[in-house]
Amino acid sequence: MIPVGVIIGALLALVVLLRARYQLSFKARLREALRRKEFHMVYQPVMDLRTNRCVGAEALIRWSPPDEPPVSPAVFIPEAESHGLIKQVTAQVMEMVARDSVALLTAYPDTHIAINFSAEDLHSPQMEGQLATLLQHAGAQSRNILIEATERGLMQPDKAKGRLVSVRAQGFKVAIDDFGTGSSSLSYLATYDLDLLKIDKMFVDSFEQNSSTSKVALHIIEIARTLGLEMIAEGVETERQRDTLRAAGVQYAQGWLFARPMSMGDLMGFMRASNDV
Ligand code: C2E
Ligand code: CA
Ligand code: CA
Ligand code: CA
Repeated sequence: MIPVGVIIGALLALVVLLRARYQLSFKARLREALRRKEFHMVYQPVMDLRTNRCVGAEALIRWSPPDEPPVSPAVFIPEAESHGLIKQVTAQVMEMVARDSVALLTAYPDTHIAINFSAEDLHSPQMEGQLATLLQHAGAQSRNILIEATERGLMQPDKAKGRLVSVRAQGFKVAIDDFGTGSSSLSYLATYDLDLLKIDKMFVDSFEQNSSTSKVALHIIEIARTLGLEMIAEGVETERQRDTLRAAGVQYAQGWLFARPMSMGDLMGFMRASNDV
């Protein structure tokens, strides 16, 4: 008889081995995807709650490996971050956004495109050069570009602050993404001068009940208003959520209630329908 401890030990070793192999192959697959350019972008409309018009869109990456189901960015972005590949992903995002945006910004020069930046992007000395190239290739103005920084990206002000001050001075807009989900959100408002705050879906969801989370959300909105920050609420799915946000003074929102992320071609149609009323 083989002792149970030995069997468990062997199984554990197998799990560790399989995980290491999975990690290795995931990294290799990501590398290959970058080389073969298997990514594309979709764009989710951002609505002005006062006018019901579309004022811009958030660029969201999609990965569809050939002969395989699509992989969610919620899965592969953290993997790219931990394997040191995120800067390459962001470089391709900037290229794709530049290419996609030309027609949109020609037809609607006042709209914005929001791009997600990871911590490493915000700390990278290449970031400003990439933004300049993006403007050139998209025929865009700096005010057309909204940089979405997560709280993780803002965690080291010594690395991120100078760069964000500089890009804001050039006219780019900067938003703090997923606001309220980190542990010291409020302190970032004091550390950084920002333009916008994105209210996380968790708070938006809370407006379905009168929970303590919804009370916290209303206080956050109040603080942001006091500081003169504009707000975009994320993940708005119901009319009740929209109405609560509007009543609280939140001007912008995105979510399935208005539109799902879509191709740039479809966004052009959406813009036309929402603006030519
Ligand atoms: P995020 O930046 O917070 O993006 C919002 C996510 O919420 C998107 O998921 C969007 O499709 C989803 N969403 C929008 N409206 C609704 C709604 O009404 N209901 C629900 N349930 N979901 C909604 P997605 O596209 O899967 O992206 C997930 C995360 O992956 C993003 O969260 C962001 O952190 C990251 N990500 C996506 N694209 C990029 C990118 O190009 N670069 C980087 N660095 N990260 C990205
Ligand atoms: Ca975002
Ligand atoms: Ca977000
Ligand atoms: Ca999020």
